[in-house]
Amino acid sequence: MKGPFNPVEMIRSKRDGGTHSAAEIRDFIEQFSAGAVADYQMSAWLMAVFARGMSDGETVALTQAMLHSGKVLRLPSVKAVKIDKHSTGGVGDKISICLAPLVAACGVAVPMISGRGLGHTGGTLDKLEAIPGYRVQLKAQRFERVVRDVGTSMIGQSAELAPADRRIYALRDVTATVECIPLIVASILSKKLAEGIDGLVLDVKVGRGAFMKDLKSARALGQALVRVGTGSGKRVVALLTAMDAPIGRTIGNGLETREAIEILRDAGPADTRELTLTLGAEMLVLGKAERSLQAARARLERALADGSALDRFSRMVRAHGGDLRAVEQPERLVNAKAKFEVLARRSGYVSECDAYSLGMSGIALGAGRTRADQAVDPSAGIELCAQRGERVTRGQPLAVIHARTLPLAKSEALRVEQAFRIGSTKPRARRVVLERITR
Ligand code: URA
Repeated sequence: MKGPFNPVEMIRSKRDGGTHSAAEIRDFIEQFSAGAVADYQMSAWLMAVFARGMSDGETVALTQAMLHSGKVLRLPSVKAVKIDKHSTGGVGDKISICLAPLVAACGVAVPMISGRGLGHTGGTLDKLEAIPGYRVQLKAQRFERVVRDVGTSMIGQSAELAPADRRIYALRDVTATVECIPLIVASILSKKLAEGIDGLVLDVKVGRGAFMKDLKSARALGQALVRVGTGSGKRVVALLTAMDAPIGRTIGNGLETREAIEILRDAGPADTRELTLTLGAEMLVLGKAERSLQAARARLERALADGSALDRFSRMVRAHGGDLRAVEQPERLVNAKAKFEVLARRSGYVSECDAYSLGMSGIALGAGRTRADQAVDPSAGIELCAQRGERVTRGQPLAVIHARTLPLAKSEALRVEQAFRIGSTKPRARRVVLERITR
């Protein structure tokens, strides 16, 4: 493409299978941010990218252009290595809440900018806001101070960070161009790189409760994230992890935050703990706090056992204006007006526990949202009394539904019951981590 900047040429070039230069992509995003590229032109280009794809070089250029469409935090006063984690989204995924203070307690700083739940998957910000008073919006300077003093701060995205992504994502959402690996990669990485991190651990979820339903597409996304993240000068590792069943025993904001606090108290469900330790070990190794994953894991286990991880969490909650009584007595986070038990109709082993269905029930109960501007009910959700592989007897509770009213709780009973499949033999255990991608 030669001559003065022309968005139509940009669209035509990609439509015909061309490759853009980094300068062309940078100009295109700059002109879009300045209002010189119309939304319909951006939409046409996004569809051309959807159909024709982009090379890694183009994806790095798009990531950088979207990153520099806003403020890029540098956090100069934070001397520790800064490593974050990003999950592509799952059901019952409360890992960030226990992981960030745990890793911070082991000497690696975690500046974490998180999102809200949308669709059947939950969001860390909604979970944190279940703690009364917790403020998710901090000014950049205050965010830096909290990361420096506490080792971690968890906030929401501001309009200042990667604003081009926000506008482009809104267009993708309504033009059927979300499911496109280069666009997903640039979207995720532009926001994460704006945090001023040195490295990133990606938890790419695979399965019926995930964005990527099969291993092949999750692998393609994980590999692209690692290549483009590395190409942007960061240390990046991706784990592909199972998301057929929910993580842990809770779905819903207050319930999940309570479970994350249980993990920080060196208790909680084994699978939630396992995923937290696995991701945390990767973060400590990326941050060069430990040489091996084994040594990193042992250090994390010590930080859970000696209370230092919980202490970091309390300090972070205090720095964000949150009510510490919720940390000291996490039962306070579980306060739905109505509860309804869903009972097993037969005895046997739980062979499936459908994360997608349970996530959809969570939305219907008010724990999630179908539109970005909806409020969530922090007390709503589902407590799982049995996980995949566990034995249940007829009449025993499979789950407890938490809701604002009893009719609302009862209205989801059938869907919750049908999310469980009960068989006569114990199912084979499934691995949590399916693959590890480093290059
Ligand atoms: N999450 C993001 O932030 N962006 C995408 O494009 C998809 C998932």
